[in-house]
Amino acid sequence: MNTYTQQIKQARTLLGNSSRVVAFSGAGISTESGLSDFRSKGGLWERYRIVTFQEFLASHKNRIEYWSMRRELIPGLLNAQPNPAHHALAKLEEEGKLLNIITQNIDGLHQSAGNKKVIELHGTNMTASCLTCNLQWSIAEIQKRLEAGDLDPHCNDCNGLIKPDTVSFGQSMPVEAMEQAYQAAASCDLLLMIGSSLEVQPANQFPLVAHQGGASLVFINRTATPYDHLATFSFTESASKIMRTLTE
Ligand SMILES: [Zn+2]
Repeated sequence: MNTYTQQIKQARTLLGNSSRVVAFSGAGISTESGLSDFRSKGGLWERYRIVTFQEFLASHKNRIEYWSMRRELIPGLLNAQPNPAHHALAKLEEEGKLLNIITQNIDGLHQSAGNKKVIELHGTNMTASCLTCNLQWSIAEIQKRLEAGDLDPHCNDCNGLIKPDTVSFGQSMPVEAMEQAYQAAASCDLLLMIGSSLEVQPANQFPLVAHQGGASLVFINRTATPYDHLATFSFTESASKIMRTLTE
């Protein structure tokens, strides 16, 4: 048996023996659903600059810039389907083994796969709300308005600004989600990290918190991370392939 096969076998045993699993996911889990990591080359994010929350609030011109980028982004999000890595996590939750998913993603694919206990650190792009009265719409409804020529959509009720329910640059992290995530990471016996390079604060703290709480770490990411040395197993591989093998 080669090392890789041995490691897979041992990781399966580790997962089998764990009862309080928490998954931590980043953009890498969704690339196989056709959603590119926003840091990747040639993507949408190279053609648009990031409009911060403060800039969004500040002017109509900035909001037009923000929404024209979203208008291109949203159809891909609406068409994206969960891949085998998402489905494997749904299966683990159904079996009662997976307590929570902590995700940096805003694509809603964990929920589409059937997971219910999802902690979204950066909010979601699948809905949008009025910043004044909190009235909420599906992102599909907002996309219809954008396509009909409404370049800076406002609330039908109070005329407040509408913004996707994501945490934008310049917006503070959601306090409740952060607390839930810390609690989940601190109390798990295995943290499965999937598709994050663990380079961004504060998200990269969760594997450390889990490790300090005595949990084992299994990492699955296309590239190495700064915390690989703490992981019992670190697979630089396709998330779908490894997750399918670990859970079948
Ligand atoms: Zn409103």
